[in-house]
Amino acid sequence: MIKAYVFDLDGVIYRGWELQETAAETLAELERRGAAIFAYTNNAMRTRRSYVDKLNKLGITQFHVDKVMTSAYATALYLKEKGSVGKSVYMIAGDGLYEELTAVGMKVYRGTEGEEVPVDYVIVGADKDFNYGKLARAQHGILGGAEFIATNTDPTYPLENGTLNPGGGSLVAAVKTASGTEPYVIGKPYTYAFEKILSIAGAAPDEAMMVGDRLDTDIAVANRAGAYSGLVLTGVTTLEEAEAATGELVPTKILRRLSDLLD
Ligand SMILES: [Mg+2]
Repeated sequence: MIKAYVFDLDGVIYRGWELQETAAETLAELERRGAAIFAYTNNAMRTRRSYVDKLNKLGITQFHVDKVMTSAYATALYLKEKGSVGKSVYMIAGDGLYEELTAVGMKVYRGTEGEEVPVDYVIVGADKDFNYGKLARAQHGILGGAEFIATNTDPTYPLENGTLNPGGGSLVAAVKTASGTEPYVIGKPYTYAFEKILSIAGAAPDEAMMVGDRLDTDIAVANRAGAYSGLVLTGVTTLEEAEAATGELVPTKILRRLSDLLD
């Protein structure tokens, strides 16, 4: 019996500003059946609040802010648990990460204005205003001894018209190359944030299902945590790729559309 469903957002509930065809009816029916419904996105560009606002604008009301996990929020939780509150960060990512980090009391630097200062952490995710100067500051921070953290390593994310844009992983790869250093990764497929969701839900791993469109993040995190997984074919993965998956990439269920979850 599945007590908690954890939905990825991009490619699952929506593509850009376009709601996926059966998302609204599927969520409403799962809610009616009494399931706990969570969202978990690797995308660190927005705050949890702004994801709730976006979902509400699309007519989706099942996700309360306490039921939304992002790699940005998970990064802030991780630093807080590590006792790093008050330490300094140079970040390359969107406002979502900036707001989550400042909310827990981190001292956050971003952009290329002002003097370059030594920092304790360099944190990298997707950033629509990425540039050479930011890359250089991240590199200098890490070479100067800062710990390198990646919010996520997704190479791409899908848009409305079926095209792909560069994800956080593309920028993380640039910083990795420039610094010669491997990051500690917070988001999926690493289990840190997923396990936080299970504890909020009061669900054991085998009472939870992760529903996503990407094998190497959504499906892998479920398998690593011992949870069920549903791969929906409305995002970045094709049926051929899903059927050819091996090891930790094998989904429990392949869903042609989200409403196949209700069967
Ligand atoms: Mg996705």
